[in-house]
Amino acid sequence: MYLKNSKVIVIKIGSSLIVDQNKKIRKKWLSSFAKDIQKLKSNNKKIIIVSSGAIALGCKKMNYNKLSLKLDKSQAIASIGQIELMNLFSQTFSKYKLSISQILLTLDDTEERRRSINAKRTFENLFQLDYIPIVNENDTIATSEIKYGDNDRLASRVAQITNADTLILLSDVDGLFTKNPKVFKNAKLIKIVNNLSKDIKNIKIKGVTEFGRGGMNTKLEAAKICNLAGCNMVIANGLYLNPISQIEYKNNCTWFISKISKLQARKKWIISSVSPRGELIIDEGAKKALINGKSLLAAGIKKVSGKFNKGDHIKILDNKKNEFARGLSSFSSEEINKIIGYHSNEIQKILGYVSKSEVVHKDDMVEV
Ligand code: GLU
Repeated sequence: MYLKNSKVIVIKIGSSLIVDQNKKIRKKWLSSFAKDIQKLKSNNKKIIIVSSGAIALGCKKMNYNKLSLKLDKSQAIASIGQIELMNLFSQTFSKYKLSISQILLTLDDTEERRRSINAKRTFENLFQLDYIPIVNENDTIATSEIKYGDNDRLASRVAQITNADTLILLSDVDGLFTKNPKVFKNAKLIKIVNNLSKDIKNIKIKGVTEFGRGGMNTKLEAAKICNLAGCNMVIANGLYLNPISQIEYKNNCTWFISKISKLQARKKWIISSVSPRGELIIDEGAKKALINGKSLLAAGIKKVSGKFNKGDHIKILDNKKNEFARGLSSFSSEEINKIIGYHSNEIQKILGYVSKSEVVHKDDMVEV
């Protein structure tokens, strides 16, 4: 049900699903996965894949042992393996008429607002071109201080910045258990977690973290990030063929359900974010439109003050200079000065490039 209602889905696959313990590529599995993706796409879902495997495939090619690699060597190996990984996806997915692209991210790309907005736009443009972005950490330059470290956390940040509805973590366990299932026979799979901090209080995470690649801890961290962003997350066993269909039909997995909507999460994030960089004074007509849930257009702006960039947090004041909303500006102060008072369909001609038509989109605005 949760998948059916999701428009944007991020799927994370770990190295152990790409390469098995004998260092053999799991081609049959990848084909079954591609078939699942084809099905999701035919149902109009927007898909992002976060895939590990660069280091595993680099090691395979160079005949190195992953565990004995030092950081600088692993960066070089990741650079070699990343092409292998993308070749593998490209060859497999093209058989199902699926086009893929590559996005390599470093920590700041999702943690810094302006960079995350740019990254979000790239994802959206790729959706429009009908390409499936395949994301990995940019291991070739990431050092330990500036690393996500594991792709569970990377995937949850990607889900957050792209406003995804669901993050699927394909792991090598069925989900979250009451105890470590490899040790305790009476361990039970928890199928649904509605309140993360309350529901997992009684689980001894320490024992549970011993299984699974990234560990259960990083997965619970990812669940927290997702749930705060209004995104549901599911941990499922990716070792089975057709792993996404398995989630839909068998439901032998753990769902973490967010208590807040994506819009609520976004608005909370806007209001709690760093101090506003500038102000826009708008006319009465625009104020009325905003109160009725509309976006702010250039035509209704009377004055800009402060110096700010696209994506910055700004105050919106009425013509009596009373602040009544805050939001994220889709334009820089310099750009707004050029388009102030103009009709939205004149913006492209004035600026000389294609841009958004709203100065502050309604989803990026909160009344105060
Ligand atoms: N980015 C790493 C790789 O592609 C994997 C990190 C992880 O598995 O969490 O090899």
